[in-house]
Amino acid sequence: MIYRKGITKNSSRPLAAQSFFKGHFIPKLSVFAEFIEHLPAATEFGVTCTREVIHMVNLLINSTEPVEMSLTSFGGKPVQNSDGKFQWPTCGCCKLPMQFLAKILVNNELHQIFMCQNDPGMCDDWDANGDGNAVVVTIPIELEYAPTPSEGITLREVEHSVKVVEVEGNDYEKARNEWAERNTASPREVLGQVSGEPSWIQGDEIPTCNECNKPMKFVAQLEQGPDWKTEMNFGGGVAYLFHCDCIGSAKFLWQC
Ligand SMILES: [Zn+2]
Ligand SMILES: [Zn+2]
Repeated sequence: MIYRKGITKNSSRPLAAQSFFKGHFIPKLSVFAEFIEHLPAATEFGVTCTREVIHMVNLLINSTEPVEMSLTSFGGKPVQNSDGKFQWPTCGCCKLPMQFLAKILVNNELHQIFMCQNDPGMCDDWDANGDGNAVVVTIPIELEYAPTPSEGITLREVEHSVKVVEVEGNDYEKARNEWAERNTASPREVLGQVSGEPSWIQGDEIPTCNECNKPMKFVAQLEQGPDWKTEMNFGGGVAYLFHCDCIGSAKFLWQC
């Protein structure tokens, strides 16, 4: 998000000042308007400096560049620190290892998303508070690929990197379609967004942090992927990733 400085007129000007200007000092409003435009910080005349917020949408665009361990990528293998503390998440419902979907770089941390696909649709894998998905937050220091468990549906058939493209606006869907049109590409090449505002398919479903009980911060939105044969399974919908600063916890959910 960036800010642009601007000047706006403030209608909450003190009454005494208003009648003074109206009755005695400035005969023509247009002259008055020109006068105030040239005042840098004349708050006493009812003019305040404000910051007009320019929203940006950060689109994740499919890329053919090689995948890097410390950056956002889809499919492939999850990473771990060489301290050996990483544990591949297991589904609380079917007790089998979950499938690794993607890793998203958020504020210098990798949010590694796992979702149960051992019996699709049977393990509440859409639920931010269910046992069918998990987000493992990994600091990208001394990374290596995590060993793959011997049972369960654990990996996807694809692996691809992304580039982040910043476009002006605050509507993800609009930004996504406009990017595709501008680049004569399929909207499927847009894999989601990072930061910004979630574009909900159903109602607003911001999860609450288990630790501090506060609403979590939106960090990313993910599409199923560029190719229907290898895409992630969000029931034809979209996934959302959230984070809380208190202990660095993260949650994942999807809607369709
Ligand atoms: Zn399961
Ligand atoms: Zn918290």
